[in-house]
Amino acid sequence: MANQWLKKAQDYKDSYLKDLKELVSIKSVRDDAHATDDYPLGKGPAKALEKFLSFGKRDGFKTKNLENIVGYIEYGQGDKTLAIQAHADVMPAGDGWETDPFTMTQKDGNVYGRGTSDDKGPGLAAYYGLRMLKDSGIKPNLKIRFIIGTDEESQWTGMKHYFSVEPAPTFGFSPDAEFPLINGEKGNATFETQFGDSNGVEYTLKSFNSGLRMNMVPGDATALIDVPDNEKLVDAFTKFLDTHPISGDIKLTDERMRIHIVGKAAHGMEPKNGVNAGTYLATFLNEFNFDGDAENFISFIAEKLHEDSRAHKIGADHVDSLMGETTMNVAIMKFDHTKGGTVNTNFRYPQGFSDKDILKKLILAADEYKGEVHQLDNMDPHYVDPKDPIVTTLMKVYQQQTGDTKSTPEVVGGGTYARLMDRGVAFGALFPDTEDTMHQANEFQPVNDLIKAMAIYGQSISELSK
Ligand SMILES: [Zn+2]
Repeated sequence: MANQWLKKAQDYKDSYLKDLKELVSIKSVRDDAHATDDYPLGKGPAKALEKFLSFGKRDGFKTKNLENIVGYIEYGQGDKTLAIQAHADVMPAGDGWETDPFTMTQKDGNVYGRGTSDDKGPGLAAYYGLRMLKDSGIKPNLKIRFIIGTDEESQWTGMKHYFSVEPAPTFGFSPDAEFPLINGEKGNATFETQFGDSNGVEYTLKSFNSGLRMNMVPGDATALIDVPDNEKLVDAFTKFLDTHPISGDIKLTDERMRIHIVGKAAHGMEPKNGVNAGTYLATFLNEFNFDGDAENFISFIAEKLHEDSRAHKIGADHVDSLMGETTMNVAIMKFDHTKGGTVNTNFRYPQGFSDKDILKKLILAADEYKGEVHQLDNMDPHYVDPKDPIVTTLMKVYQQQTGDTKSTPEVVGGGTYARLMDRGVAFGALFPDTEDTMHQANEFQPVNDLIKAMAIYGQSISELSK
């Protein structure tokens, strides 16, 4: 059975690669600067959606475009609905590409280009799974909806719209992560702690800047300060660099000391993979006699947040036996002597804990430093029972197709569309041994992986729709 699907998938390889090339050539990056009533996310994402839907029409499916922000390809009928959620938008290309990011290029058995791995390649492979099912004359006993979002990389505008106007699917999967399968996604809450602008006289913090995005560990931090003895500061900084896993430089600019620290950027869902330049900078500055809100801003970061990704010091270190630990990323730290300071923290937390619990702990901790905490957003934890047929069926197919019987369903700190469904999981298409190049320059995916994924998706849809 498993072999038949792989053989079938091979027959579709050329057609698949031709379609993928067309999808990759559409620069479907969200473009708010050119948003209109007809194209709320800009033209690129809508064009990629339209292209996807045109494949569905060509292959004899019913399709529907909902306001140019989300659409679906439908097959079969029944009371139950199986949903497959992919996305047609991509991250901006960024620098460092060796080939044109929007021209799919085949090299050494791989396809290169923005979206080949996230998520045009895997999404299209899942669509081809559906197409193989139909072409083989298999009639599903439920309705299948292949739903295409156009804003996964920022706010999920389209997919959230779909779930607000269409009936909830019975179950489903999103081919937008990795194999074997993700059945748990931690909760995700963000907070901002605000500080006033009062400062010291002898030691003055003019500015402090670290971090760009909520989901990144800041790899870079800069502060401008006035101190009574520049030489003493330089000596202390040199010692600090020698004894910590960071690099940096210090210099006099416009009669003011400029301190710059370089750590290591990483995805915010596992802060241990990075070195937070901002909390190191605050820790260094905390040796000196700053005063007022500037001191509070520095001390709060240094004493309550630094090197504590499990949030022990503020007491938010909740662990769940199924979903694991709470993690905290100190994402953005800013201070300006005229405007005051802000510290943004992002938490990924398991079931049995809540955003309100974290808020309480943060308020208590910040209170000592006259910081005022505000919650910015939240998504609750998502967990599907490993015994649910959506998990057991997909795991069985994955194991049959790959022979990999060792890997097990995972819980992650990231989030996929799957969490929009009670019985939703993320399933593929990155294989455990394949390099993860999503969101990076020279994004690629091995062609054989994509064809194998197509076979896995075809068999999975077939077994789920029995
Ligand atoms: Zn994605």
